[in-house]
Amino acid sequence: TVMLNLREVTHIYPNGTKALDNVTLSIPKGMFGLLGPNGAGKSTLMRTVATLQTPTAGEIHFGDTDILKNPENLRERLGYLPQDFGVYPRVSAYDMLEHMTVLKGIASKADRKATVETLLNQTNLWDVRKKAIAGFSGGMRQRFGIAQALIGNPELIIVDEPTAGLDPEERNRFLNLLAEIGENVVIILSTHIVEDVADLCPNMAVIANGRIQLEGAPLDLIGKT
Ligand code: ADP
Ligand code: ADP
Repeated sequence: TVMLNLREVTHIYPNGTKALDNVTLSIPKGMFGLLGPNGAGKSTLMRTVATLQTPTAGEIHFGDTDILKNPENLRERLGYLPQDFGVYPRVSAYDMLEHMTVLKGIASKADRKATVETLLNQTNLWDVRKKAIAGFSGGMRQRFGIAQALIGNPELIIVDEPTAGLDPEERNRFLNLLAEIGENVVIILSTHIVEDVADLCPNMAVIANGRIQLEGAPLDLIGKT
């Protein structure tokens, strides 16, 4: 079933750059790879779907929700891991996650504790939970980012270039973590690395110059790219 529908989405920045050019995409549940080179429009598309940016034109629906008309509804169901997300470096992973469960509106202290503990285990950060995030490696930092994004059980998870700068082992670990999140959610993985999508995403699209060039299953597409 198609969950996220983009129809003729165009984004023109104030300086005239057309970052998205008539993007139409149907994204089903599961992992979806958005593959494209630097400057292709991936971050613009991710920010637009996350409702952090309003497109110049077009429509976006998540399930029955028109997300441009009801961005609050989308945000409650969204987990977003931006490229280069900021952290408070001196705060521990545990304390930061605990704080974010408060912001996410998880009211009971027991529920917050259970959520934080589950996420720390799921992302393999339990042993370093009391350490300051400043000391984390790139891989640990990205896994911490996913833990943050998963608070509140989002139905739509957007991760923008999460494997950039990771070594192969960290990269695999991170991608396997994404793959474990589940088939019942939509996960959009933006990347410029072909292998990221080829190995794990049943569906993908290739974007360049703000336009969708190809859309389908990696098995059918990669040979053509
Ligand atoms: P990607 O994430 O694939 O690298 P981006 O969405 O960041 O692509 O950028 C797409 C195009 O839009 C690029 O030409 C980029 O320079 C331009 N761009 C991105 N953000 C802005 C902005 N705030 N103002 C003007 N141009 C921008
Ligand atoms: P990304 O590829 O993830 O968008 P960039 O390095 O292209 O990362 O962009 C970093 C920041 O600079 C973003 O906030 C983006 O919107 C902005 N930006 C990118 N290109 C331009 C541009 N040509 N003019 C103005 N701002 C830009």
